[in-house]
Amino acid sequence: MTKSFEKEFNISTKRRTEFVDITQKVNLFVKESKIVNGVCYVYVPHTTAGITINENADPSVVRDIIKKLNSLVPEDDEYSHSEGNSDSHIKSTLTGNSVTIFVSENELKLGTWQGIYFCEYDGPRMRNVWIKILKSEN
Ligand code: ZN
Repeated sequence: MTKSFEKEFNISTKRRTEFVDITQKVNLFVKESKIVNGVCYVYVPHTTAGITINENADPSVVRDIIKKLNSLVPEDDEYSHSEGNSDSHIKSTLTGNSVTIFVSENELKLGTWQGIYFCEYDGPRMRNVWIKILKSEN
């Protein structure tokens, strides 16, 4: 029996700041793993992107989150970092680089209104997402 399952996939983002709903994609990997019960780790190996779980029923929630992040962390603010994307690094730290979701009955166990979002803060560009699913006894 499979004890763990690993997968990596790419996302091609379209805008400088954008949240991409990857819930379905991650759930497909859970199915493919055939792991019935366990935990699923979703990790983003970037310093100007992030990952978060939030509402995916009403798209205005994500629009408001992006609007507020942009007003809290403006693109220009006399930063030291010469690459010119300090706001992207700060937003990455605010949302974090990984989420953990329980796997139950070979599905992601998310709340009714929850979805998993890849958070782009310095796009458009090609990004990676790493997934690891570990089996548990119950
Ligand atoms: Zn930078």
